[in-house]
Amino acid sequence: MILELKFILILAAVLLVLGLILSYLSTLADKKEDSAEKRIEMLLPGINCGQCGFPGCSAYAKALADKKAAPNLCRPAGADVAKQLGVLVGDTNAAYGDYEEQLFSPRQVAYIHENSCTGCGKCKRKCPVDAIAGVLKEAHMVDPDLCIGCDDCINTCPEKCIEKIRLDHDLSHFNWNIHSVQIKSGS
Ligand code: SF4
Ligand code: SF4
Ligand code: SF4
Repeated sequence: MILELKFILILAAVLLVLGLILSYLSTLADKKEDSAEKRIEMLLPGINCGQCGFPGCSAYAKALADKKAAPNLCRPAGADVAKQLGVLVGDTNAAYGDYEEQLFSPRQVAYIHENSCTGCGKCKRKCPVDAIAGVLKEAHMVDPDLCIGCDDCINTCPEKCIEKIRLDHDLSHFNWNIHSVQIKSGS
């Protein structure tokens, strides 16, 4: 009988400790869920298009939480979300006026002027999404479908032969704005 009682007590103690550990882990998860970065990310569209200049919404959310980026860089999110982001990160001075024009404009991508390119390969090494192709000492090229328009290659090129160009207006180049369709309740 005493042996059984001891076993029950030990079992209860083990369960109690396990419960405490699980509760601690759940608190940690809640804290993470509630972090500034997480709250920022929940406001972003989640389409990972890279138009903000970061390789995806998570990266932009992290940069915003670390105060390393402006809150008005996500065009697909729209001006309202940008303003909310500004309040969240304590930066309400960013400009939002040009959103309409940019929302309905095609993406901008890097373009290499082949005649001036020496093929040094610096841009290719710098590109975060591997959008630049070319072999050393020959002209390089940007794949517009992959380019996220981050400007890294432009800032790196010693020949200054890369510029941003705006892609043609067509469906594949459209800046999809998932917040632009407002569902209104029927009257
Ligand atoms: S522009 Fe907006 S939707 Fe696109 S990757 Fe950046 S944060 Fe995400
Ligand atoms: S702008 Fe240049 S570095 Fe940035 S994704 Fe496009 S090609 Fe790559
Ligand atoms: S950095 Fe400039 S010069 Fe060098 S390969 Fe790229 S485009 Fe050409």
